[in-house]
Parts: sequence; structure tokens; C-alpha cells
Amino acid sequence: MTAIAGMNFSIDAWDPGYGSSMEAEELGRSQAEVELDVEVPEAEWAPIDPSPVPAPEAVLFVDGVRRIDARVWIDDPAGTNSASIGICASYAAGVVCCCEGQAHVVGTDVRRGLFTVAPRADDIVTPAGIYTAHRAAAKEDKPLPVVLSSALQEQLALAEEETAVKARTAGHARDDLLVVDGPLRGRAHLDRAVGFIKSHQTTYLPGELNALVGSLGAHQRTPVFLMGTTWVRHSWYLRLPSAGGPPWSGVVRVEAAPHLGREQVAELANVTQSVLGRFASVAYKDSRAPQNLYPIAGLERDLRHRLGDQQFVYRALRLAAAR
Ligand SMILES: [Zn+2]
Repeated sequence: MTAIAGMNFSIDAWDPGYGSSMEAEELGRSQAEVELDVEVPEAEWAPIDPSPVPAPEAVLFVDGVRRIDARVWIDDPAGTNSASIGICASYAAGVVCCCEGQAHVVGTDVRRGLFTVAPRADDIVTPAGIYTAHRAAAKEDKPLPVVLSSALQEQLALAEEETAVKARTAGHARDDLLVVDGPLRGRAHLDRAVGFIKSHQTTYLPGELNALVGSLGAHQRTPVFLMGTTWVRHSWYLRLPSAGGPPWSGVVRVEAAPHLGREQVAELANVTQSVLGRFASVAYKDSRAPQNLYPIAGLERDLRHRLGDQQFVYRALRLAAAR
């Protein structure tokens, strides 16, 4: 990339808070269609106790972290005075394997990207690494920060998937369970994979059944249901062991692929019920305990470290812009 052919861009003043309000998680506010008769008829909904199921040899946790490093202005190559905004972000995906009573990181992948709707965007080469250009299509019904944040989230999900597949291929377990931290969206085709959702902004179940979730005892779960928002998946609520607190403390929602049969999905639900509680963190170690499983918390710390120092990458971007 030479200065003549390269794109002209500038970097906004450093704002460490930038992007923190841009989280665009699950905007589909409960327009959910729910099918309750998947595992048991709706009239027979009751808490399900854990059943003795063989535990998988390994539980693989997949997670990713993201950070907005800077906001950039990309000059219009046509020489008009207009410029498009973009974000430079660092993101990392990783997998931690829990087997034989130990947890070990089995794969990490750190990437940097430039996300923009600018008609022409080139990679930005910096001393801290290359920010690969990703063009997003502008959407009339979505603010630009949400469009860019979603584009970043999509690339992070892709990195998570690739890291997970690689870790599994190279893995030492014949039989594993893959736990994706967050929605399973886009990863539902992965074998024996579940999504793990810790926070509950939206109510998906009808009133009475929603109250049932609050009454679950430790390790109990709801029957499996099918839910459709912008995408369809199986789901169930599960309570991790917790030291009391609000009615929904310790409650997580698990997601599984929509194409699984009744037996398969019930078996998967039973497996999550018997293994996930083992990884619940304790309150003094993590303020989001017990929903924040400790292998995931450890992996997130590791991944954040791998993103590199934020001031260093910011300066690297300023240098690249000045070239
Ligand atoms: Zn292992």
C-alpha cells in the first residue's frame, strides 16, 4: 500500500469510553414466538431435576472479547469534502478446555479490523498490526454506530467459530460439549454446541411459566422450548447453584440448534444440567457470579491481555494516519 494509492484517513481524539454505549446485543425485544410443547406438553410444565447422564470427557468454552481502539474518518477518494466514519477495533476469540479436573487454553486468535460503510476502504497497516478493512452496508433503519458494532460482532462470531472448530479438530477428547458464551446465533450448525446466556433483558415465556423459572431450585431446569425471534433455536432455563439473592440469581438460558429432535435436545439439556453447575463462579471471585462461569472469566482476562495496550495501539493508529 503506497501513500499515493492508499486511502486518506484521520483518527479521532482518544476517547476511552467510546463504543461502550454501542452494544447492539439482541435488539429483538420480545417479538418472540415460543413453542412450548417440545419436550413435554405445555400443561405438564414443571421443574426438571438433574438426571444421571454420562458427562462428556471435555467441556470446551468459546468466548470472544472486543475493544474499540479508535474512531476514524475516511476521506472520500473523489476529493469531495465529505468523509465517512469508521471504527478500528481489536478483537480476540479463544477456547478453554476443561477436562480431567483442569482447565487449559487450547486456542486463541487476535484480530484487528477497520469497520466502515465508506465506499472504499483499505487495510490500515500499523506497528501494532494490520487493521483489516471490513465494509458494512449502511442501513436506513439503523444508526451507523449500531451497523458498525454489528459488523464487528459478526467478525468476532466468525473468529470464535473458526477457533472452536480448530480446537475441536486438534482436540484430545472423543466426546465433548461446546459452550458458546452468548447466543448460539450463526454457530447453531456446530455439533453438540450450546449458547450460554447470562442476562435476561427480555421475557420470552408466558407469565405463569416465567414464574416457574424463578422457582427453579439449584441444578433444576425448565422443559425445552422452541423460540423464534429473528432466528429460531431451542432453549431452556437452568439454575446454577447460588448463594441466594434475587429470584433469578443463578438463572441462565441455554440455546441449542433448532434442527435437533426431541430426544437429542432433551439429552443435551440434561448434559448441560449436570455439567454447567460445576463451573459456576463464586461470588467473591466474580461480581457476576454464579452466572459467569469461571473458565470463561479466566479466558476473558487472557484474551483482553492479548488485545495489547490500548494507548499503544492508539498511538500506532495515529502514526499510520500521519504517513
Ligand atoms: Zn482438555
